[in-house]
Amino acid sequence: GETIGILGGGQLGRMIALAAANLGYRCHVYAPEADSIAADVCAAFTQGHYDDTEKLAAFAETCAVVTYEFENVAAAPLEAVTAHAPLHPPARALEVAQDRVNEKTFVEALGGRPAPWAKVHSKADLLDAVARIGTPGILKTRRDGYDGKGQWRIMSTADAQALDLPTKPLIYEGFVTFEAEFSVILVRGADGDVRFWDSAQNVHKDGILDRSTVPASPVILSQVEEARALARQVADALHYVGVLTLEFFATAAGPVFNEMAPRVHNSGHWTIEGALTSQFENHVRAICGLPLGSTALAAQGAVMDNLIGDDAHDWPALLSDPANHLHLYGKAAVRPGRKMGHVTRLVL
Ligand code: ATP
Ligand code: MG
Ligand code: MG
Repeated sequence: GETIGILGGGQLGRMIALAAANLGYRCHVYAPEADSIAADVCAAFTQGHYDDTEKLAAFAETCAVVTYEFENVAAAPLEAVTAHAPLHPPARALEVAQDRVNEKTFVEALGGRPAPWAKVHSKADLLDAVARIGTPGILKTRRDGYDGKGQWRIMSTADAQALDLPTKPLIYEGFVTFEAEFSVILVRGADGDVRFWDSAQNVHKDGILDRSTVPASPVILSQVEEARALARQVADALHYVGVLTLEFFATAAGPVFNEMAPRVHNSGHWTIEGALTSQFENHVRAICGLPLGSTALAAQGAVMDNLIGDDAHDWPALLSDPANHLHLYGKAAVRPGRKMGHVTRLVL
């Protein structure tokens, strides 16, 4: 079969590679770390930095198509990839999604509604933002944040004054009083065919996704249609090919856009067993120009729990229940807050 290139070496790449293998493709991972849990299940691995254009070009030459599982790859060096192989989703999707100011501006232009926000470069900017938007709020790095890293809760003007401002481009967001959180995950084919999975209700702990549940609560279900319409517009505007995720807060005033991820998403892991076609398989189908599979539920529902840090379970008991599906990512070192695996329990 042909070779699919994957930029990024984590569990999302690993699960893309496993789905690709089932369709007869080989995968070639490109990542900066020496030990990649994605490369562990792939035919080829190049260890390299995302700005090493020579290595990227050599990597892309071996691939029929290149995708990414990680959005913090600078868009400029990716020209070394696109000179040799098609990149799906397109580099423009990365540029938009990897910067919180870009993604909010982009979504607002399409009629989407994020929390009130302001760019912050200095303490004076922060104090202006706090005066205009109010507290509580969250100061976030514009780039490179994930799992709630690079975020500071601001409860008062005094908090803002006392904060030792990091020297990175920042954004201040008003705190959204939400009833629940949910994600919209879609896949868009090269022909513009768009399919949505059921939206999961997401619960975070310490800024990290803890549990995703399908079906979501009635409040969320009443807001999914509006959220999907926005997600479809984002995908169409970007000429998107592959899986795209938008995160929302369900509020009394309707869905508020949080952020987007131009990739498969942790809140879609339940689709491996809980949907007729998983997010990983449909991502592979989309980037390889194959017809998309059905996103319909394969069970009454599903609950996905992340295994974080040293989360322990009675594995034999868990595995002896036929509703449970265990996924371990093969990470050698356990660290607090690190995603080590997940368990999906189907509602049969
Ligand atoms: P991810 O791993 O999802 O990319 P991230 O580091 O980009 O995470 P966010 O999605 O911005 O982080 O925030 C993580 C969580 O923190 C959110 O899912 C939500 O629970 C909470 N949160 C973030 N921003 C806000 C906000 N403006 N108002 C209320 N809660 C928020
Ligand atoms: Mg994020
Ligand atoms: Mg998030």
